[in-house]
Amino acid sequence: MSLEQRSRLRKDYMSNVPKWRHPFIGYLVTIPATIIVLMCTMYVAKMFGQFFFPSTFCIIAIVFVALFWGAGPAVWSIMLNAAALYYFFVLPFNAYDYTNWRDALQLLPFIGSGLVIALITAQRERARFQALATELELQLYAQELEATNRQLEDANQMKDRFLSIASHELKTPVTTIRGQAQLMLRRISKHKDEKHMDGVATTLERINDQTSRLTTLIDELLDVSSMRAGKVILNKRLTDVTSLCREVVEDQQLLTERHITFEAPTEPVNMEVDVDRFAQVMSNLISNALKYSPDRSLVEVSIQPETYYVLFSVKDHGRGIAKDQQEHIFETFYRTPDAQASTKRGLGLGLSITKDIVERHNGHIWCESVPGKGSTFFVEIPL
Ligand code: ADP
Repeated sequence: MSLEQRSRLRKDYMSNVPKWRHPFIGYLVTIPATIIVLMCTMYVAKMFGQFFFPSTFCIIAIVFVALFWGAGPAVWSIMLNAAALYYFFVLPFNAYDYTNWRDALQLLPFIGSGLVIALITAQRERARFQALATELELQLYAQELEATNRQLEDANQMKDRFLSIASHELKTPVTTIRGQAQLMLRRISKHKDEKHMDGVATTLERINDQTSRLTTLIDELLDVSSMRAGKVILNKRLTDVTSLCREVVEDQQLLTERHITFEAPTEPVNMEVDVDRFAQVMSNLISNALKYSPDRSLVEVSIQPETYYVLFSVKDHGRGIAKDQQEHIFETFYRTPDAQASTKRGLGLGLSITKDIVERHNGHIWCESVPGKGSTFFVEIPL
């Protein structure tokens, strides 16, 4: 703590002390207190003929002054009382011989005990002041922490804004490129017989694939930024989730030509969901299951209606996820070391978006996995 802060603290400390306890009042009070103490001592001495401990009342006065006005007035009280004791109790014994200092030495134990009282008082004051200084320091730290926190929040908001703007800006040219590539592909397919068109078609297909990947990434980034900004509003309506899931499974099957089993009750399972967002949940889980499992392996999707909720599950027979990584996979931008080392591309956003959508449906998502055997993702949505 700086010197300036310390002196400000001392001022604050003094301003909090009641006026009657100000040291200056203490110095003044000491004078009548000494007179009263002397009078008491003389009265007792007169009553008993002899008073063996004339300094007793003086000690009480010093303790009293130290308690209410602190160390400074206590030292002043010691000086006054010592002088009074010397004048009224030592000098009469040596017939007012002012040069005989030997008897005055008897006052030393009194002065010593008085100084001990003053010292203890000074230590108490110092400890109280120290505690106040620590409290002030803590307050300063708390303020600093709050300011840093605010800066961090601002930076975070700025990052989200950048994410949102960049994704929006990227989306338009990518959509245009993709549209043009598809148009060209259609035109070329009409002239398939022309030999030199072969290479052009392959190039255009590659452009189409890559832009489609880019579109998915941009959509994920946009989803994350709008979800963080709380801009996503769910449009829930009563929907048969069985047919919704079947559609998603069929789409994925068509797209990847993989085998996906679908197990669901024969009768419709109607529940309040946002159709597009819920389809996104199932699509994310199924595409992950396909992505992180061998090409020929099976992916199993099931719907199990219970009394109060419906349980959806997506099971794969891939490499699985280690226990310590399972708790992180729903975090934004998290990818397991296995995924990072593999050729499977991704930003680690799909599951965090999925979790957000599930939670906005008051549901719960979790994963059970045995490394080497596969993973099952469960989504539980209340009815
Ligand atoms: P990504 O774009 O990387 O697929 P996700 O958010 O969808 O992002 O998934 C996060 C991480 O969780 C993935 O990188 C992967 O490591 C792991 N993961 C998700 N689904 C599976 C799965 N079915 N099997 C194994 N690992 C998975």
